[in-house]
Amino acid sequence: MKHDFSIEKLKILRHDLQMLADDESFPSATRDALQKSLSKLDEAVNIFGANTEQLRLAAIYRVSQAIESSLDLDQVLTQVMDAVISLTNAERGFLMLVDTETQGLNLRAARNIEQETLQSEKMEISRTVIESVLKTGQGVVTTDAQTDPRFSGRESVLFYGLRSLMGAPLIVRGKVIGVIYVDNRAQSGMFTRNDLDLLSAFASQAAIAIDNAYLFTRTDQALAARIGELETLTQIDGELNASLDLERVLEITHRRAIQGTDANLAWVFLSDEAGSRLSLAMGPTQSQPNINELLVNVSPMRSQVIPISDNQNNRVIVPLSHVGKLIGALVLESAEQFTDAHVQFLRRLAGRAATAIENARLYQAVQQANLAKSKFVSVVSHELRVPMTSIRGYTDLLRQGVAGKANDQQLEFLEIIRNNVERMSVLVSDLSDISRIETGRLQLETSSLHLKRYVEETVQRLQSRLDEKEQSLTLNIPDNLPTISADPNRLVQVLTNLISNANKYTPSKGSLSVQARVEGNHVRIDVSDTGIGIDSSDQQKLFSQFFRSEDEMVREQQGWGLGLNVTKQLVELMGGSIGLQSKSGLGSNFWFTLPIREVQIE
Ligand code: ADP
Repeated sequence: MKHDFSIEKLKILRHDLQMLADDESFPSATRDALQKSLSKLDEAVNIFGANTEQLRLAAIYRVSQAIESSLDLDQVLTQVMDAVISLTNAERGFLMLVDTETQGLNLRAARNIEQETLQSEKMEISRTVIESVLKTGQGVVTTDAQTDPRFSGRESVLFYGLRSLMGAPLIVRGKVIGVIYVDNRAQSGMFTRNDLDLLSAFASQAAIAIDNAYLFTRTDQALAARIGELETLTQIDGELNASLDLERVLEITHRRAIQGTDANLAWVFLSDEAGSRLSLAMGPTQSQPNINELLVNVSPMRSQVIPISDNQNNRVIVPLSHVGKLIGALVLESAEQFTDAHVQFLRRLAGRAATAIENARLYQAVQQANLAKSKFVSVVSHELRVPMTSIRGYTDLLRQGVAGKANDQQLEFLEIIRNNVERMSVLVSDLSDISRIETGRLQLETSSLHLKRYVEETVQRLQSRLDEKEQSLTLNIPDNLPTISADPNRLVQVLTNLISNANKYTPSKGSLSVQARVEGNHVRIDVSDTGIGIDSSDQQKLFSQFFRSEDEMVREQQGWGLGLNVTKQLVELMGGSIGLQSKSGLGSNFWFTLPIREVQIE
């Protein structure tokens, strides 16, 4: 059986008894006895009242503990509802929150009452109470709705026997955000002002919980949005950094600007070479904004987003600036207003895009300069070759005495001319190879070759130089070595470069060797010497153009520092790799590999 022994009911009972005790028509003995009983009742009320107050405080404490320890709003609201029901001895109750968007009410916690019931006409009176609480921000209590002039006329009061009901507002920062309601059908005198105070106390607890949860969700949402944006920006950075191609960078900027702001249209403008005017680089040509007019007062020093209205749609213009220089602009058009978040995103995107665009442009300029250089070298080397051949030819004729016998001094001078022309022709040939490799015009004619034959041929050609320095050369090329895939002329060029270096940078009477062996699906060729060696800091730069060691022994030798660069590029073009081991003063070992290509037996 439900315990309906509340302090308020005792007080009402006491009030009725006091009236009897004060009624002088009763015999005085009866009134005295009544008065005595009343004193005892007072004691009981006091004790009971103190207990009830403690219970209430304990319940409020429990709920506020729950609010502190839980961020689960529904869980807290359910606890609030449970505490309200048990402390007010209500029969049923619910808690509703105002929907911030629709202004309608959403049921968030209910006890002994269903959603359907809430909507039915049985609840008409509850709705009246709720509306009044929402409108006035004041709590409502009635101990007997049947006789309360505010409600007694209502059908639901009569038909559904509603007697006691209470409602209290949930207030956050002065705004009513919801309501807690409890009622009781059978009994009158159920709720008192004290109960309403209690309900209000719980209502403010619930309001705190809701506010906490709201703030938490808002912070959480803001954090999630920021993390989301950072992730997007990281992806954009990755995409932009992965490309030095201007077209691609523009495409990424254009696409990302639209995606990040839900815009309908976007245009990317870039400055011309003089940096004075911007012209369209990406985006639809029709309806493009008149960017140069729009940018008249824009300071490139400040990253900014300027809203413009030269059209019925919303447009923003985002200058693209790099080290204080205006290099372009991004314009976006949307049917919707651009939000602060969009603007922030565009500023960040613009910073990144500007750097990527500038890098791509610089890279493009470097590439163009490099191409121009290669073309220049190619033209010059071609033009030099013709007169050099002629000088070489006439020098040889003079040496042979075709124009009359030359004396010893003349022969010596002719020899010097010949040597210098030879030097020049090596340079011109290396330069021409480099320019052809760089412009992709070097054609390889690869076939299946027996390495041994080409090594022997090369050594033979260089034999006189080896003899001059009394250097020995050991060959160790197995006969059964598989055939390799290479361009024969280029293979000889590579071998010549390496063996002549070994010869140049090894003192007289030193030893050289050429060995070959299979390594995986390649043949590895090692050219070793007992020469001056290369210190480790020089080894890093060895394959770059025009590098020559500062060593005196190196400077004594003729050379341009191009041979190893050409050699490396040729080996790599033929599908191999190149490297070295060397120690200063202890000789060097240069190795390179070439792919095996067995001769097809038909
Ligand atoms: P060059 O021989 O015309 O200087 P290379 O590109 O062939 O140009 O070689 C670059 C530099 O590498 C040489 O100047 C020299 O310092 C070093 N080098 C190359 N081969 C050897 C070697 N076998 N021993 C010592 N140093 C070498």
